[in-house]
This record gives sequence, C-alpha cells and structure tokens, in this order.
Amino acid sequence: MSYSFRFDPMQFPPAAQALRKEVRKFLREEIDKGTFTPGAGDMAANFNPDFSRKVGARGWIGMTWPKEYGGHDRTQIERYVLTEEFLAHGAPVRAHWVADRQSGPVLLRYGTEEVRRKLIPEIVKGECYFCIGLSEPNSGSDLFAASTKAVKAEGGYKVTGTKIWTSNAHRTHYMIGLIRTSPPTADNRRHGLSQFLIKMDTPGITVRPIINLAGHHDFNEVHFDDAFVPDAHLIGRENEAWKQATDELAYERSGPDRWLETLAAFTEGVRVAGAEPVPHIAETLGRETAHLMTLRRMSASVAGMLQAGETPMTEAAVVKDLGTNWEQALPNAMRLIAPDGVRSPSANDRTFEQVMRYATHIAPKLTIQGGTREVLRGIIARGLGLR
Ligand SMILES: Cc1cc2nc3c(=O)[nH]c(=O)nc-3n(C[C@H](O)[C@H](O)[C@H](O)COP(=O)(O)OP(=O)(O)OC[C@H]3O[C@@H](n4cnc5c(N)ncnc54)[C@H](O)[C@@H]3O)c2cc1C
Repeated sequence: MSYSFRFDPMQFPPAAQALRKEVRKFLREEIDKGTFTPGAGDMAANFNPDFSRKVGARGWIGMTWPKEYGGHDRTQIERYVLTEEFLAHGAPVRAHWVADRQSGPVLLRYGTEEVRRKLIPEIVKGECYFCIGLSEPNSGSDLFAASTKAVKAEGGYKVTGTKIWTSNAHRTHYMIGLIRTSPPTADNRRHGLSQFLIKMDTPGITVRPIINLAGHHDFNEVHFDDAFVPDAHLIGRENEAWKQATDELAYERSGPDRWLETLAAFTEGVRVAGAEPVPHIAETLGRETAHLMTLRRMSASVAGMLQAGETPMTEAAVVKDLGTNWEQALPNAMRLIAPDGVRSPSANDRTFEQVMRYATHIAPKLTIQGGTREVLRGIIARGLGLR
C-alpha cells in the first residue's frame, strides 16, 4: 500500500472545452431571462425544479451514468466542467444536486434493478430529488453510532428514530438513510447498518424545520415512527452498509462544490476593484487568485482520477479541507476592497454587498458539512500512514 497522495496535472480535452462554451451560453441566456441572479445566495430560490427540468432536458443530469438507465455515458471531466460552471455562475441547482452527485450513483451501484429502472430516468429528467439521512442527534462524525432502527415486518421493515440536519427534507421525494438493522458485533462496530431508500411521504415520517442562524429553512429534523419501507428499498446488503456509506461520502466530498460555493464574493470583488487597483488590493487579489487556481488544478486532478476509475479519498479530503479554509477566509480578504461598504449605486456594486453578506453568513458551516475539518484531517493522516 502506498502512503502518499498525488495530484497529476489534468488537461481538459476538446469535448470538455466545447461543453464549457455550451453551458456558459445556456447560463447567460437564463440570467438574461431573469431565471436567477448570479451569486445572490438566496438558498430557497436555489431550489428551483423548473430550472432542474431544463438542465435535465439538456442531458446534464446523470451525465456519467449508463445510457441503458437513461444516463448519458459522458466523462467525469465533462461533469466536472458542468459543475464548475454552474457553481461559478451561482445557478439554482439545489433541487437535483444531491440526486445527481451521490444518490443516483449509490442506486446504480447497489440498488435493486426495479428501483434503478424506475428512479434513475426520473432523476435524469430533473424531476426526482433526494436528501441525505446520515446524521442523528447523537451521531454526526461518528456515523457508525447511528441508532435509528429498522425492524423486520411483513414485506419490509418498520423504521423508528430521528435524523437531524437533513438538508431539504421538506422538499425532496426520497431519502437514502443509514439505518440500524442489528447491533454492532464485538469485533466490528461498523456491522449492523443498512441503507434504505425512503419515500418522504410515507405515513409515520414527520419533517420538522430547523431555522439556521441566517434565518433560512434548509435543515430539518426527520422523525420516523414505525414508518414502513418495503424490502425492495433495501439498498445493497443488510447490515453491511458501511462500505456503501463510505462510497457515498467520497462522491459527496470530491467535487468543486466544496470550494466554489462563495466564488461570487471573489469575482464581484475583482469587478469592484477595477482594472487598476491600488497596490495593497492588487496584492490581496493576486494572493487569492493564486490560491484559487491551485485549488482548481487540484480539484480537476481529482476528477481525472475518478475518470481513470480510481478512488482518490485522501486527495478529495485534501481539496475539501484546503478549499473550505480558503472560502472561510475569503470574505475578510475581499472586505479590504471596500472596508466601508460599496456606496455607488451600480448593479454590480449592490451584488458585491449581497454576495459578501452571503459568503460571511455561510462561512461557519463550510468546515462542518460533508465531514468536519478534524475528521478530514484524520482521513488524510490515515491516507499518509500516520495513524
Ligand atoms: C450546511 C450543513 C448541511 C448538512 N446537511 C446534512 C444532510 O443533508 N444530511 C445529514 O445527514 N447531515 C447533514 N449535515 C450534518 C453534518 O454532516 C454533521 O454536522 C457533521 O458530520 C458533524 O457532525 P456533528 O454535528 O454531530 O458534530 P460532532 O461529530 O459531534 O463533532 C463536534 C466536533 O468534534 C470534532 N470531532 C468529532 N469526531 C472527531 C474525531 N474523531 N477526531 C477529532 N475531532 C473530532 C468535530 O470535528 C467537531 O469539531 C449538515 C451539516 C451542515 C453544516
């Protein structure tokens, strides 16, 4: 086993460059039509089923999935380009994002044929949305402590317990939940967990809002009280879901969505600074640009490894850790450009204040979602053979 990480340079092939142009044109048209304001950071407006259906109609959901199931058999690098453009433009992609990024791949790999045939085409059309049921009140980083349980019943299972911090549970159709089906064993505390496909309108499920510090409703608590899940909705093997859940986390962590969420604070800052910024602002912009371009090369390299069929867990954790730290520091760095706020009334200046507010509001969560900073560093240490 090799204890190192590597970031091979990745060149974007011509098909990916052509796709980038096509996506930019589409997004420009949508902005001009008023479908969304780039970088406005309105989380509720970012969940936009009409937009998701348009993206689906373009063939941009399930891009790398097999044609046999309605996917488009394109490359991870093309998907990377699409993701980068959507995020850099602040496009309203949240409705289909989780299904496209992680739930679809999990179903394709471990779901039953019946479920794949039914749901993958709906996801690809941008009509079927998913949430993630991992965290519980007493189990966050330590997923294997999950205690929401499923008890065998006639034709399926009855689920009881609570999931927490479930983003968009109130507006998605399905959850992929990590549920306890038997106790851990003395020699394997990861044993006993199963993944289930759970329909959110099942009787016995109650979704309660948690309003975040910014005053938005994104999170929820999801309570299960003997909610019935049919046998066909067990994903993969009963009691053996730890490997599947770890695969799902690798999909969740490896993309540019982990360091491009507040890019608009940077691009609007550059615009406000103008063509000839004073030296200390030029220095700030130069430093931030260097960090950004380095992150981008590292992140694109991860996409290249995924395309080559590798599982770059350590590299993905490095990119997420460096990327979220960069994003967290970004609002303070960009504030230097206009310490007292932007007073001029032009449209771009209003956008600068808007995106700065958004980037500052969401900064604390960035190093928690998708695995905390400490947990990622633990993964990196393990990848390097240090523990
Ligand atoms: C914006 C956002 C969206 C989210 N969406 C979802 C979602 O859709 N579905 C879902 O299931 N969850 C979601 N989460 C929850 C998220 O995955 C958890 O908050 C995260 O895994 C941490 O778990 P916790 O909150 O229980 O903290 P804990 O695990 O209790 O951690 C508390 C502190 O202890 C540290 N710590 C924990 N273990 C170790 C260790 N082994 N070594 C060193 N330090 C450690 C952590 O780094 C952290 O600083 C979301 C969170 C955020 C912020």
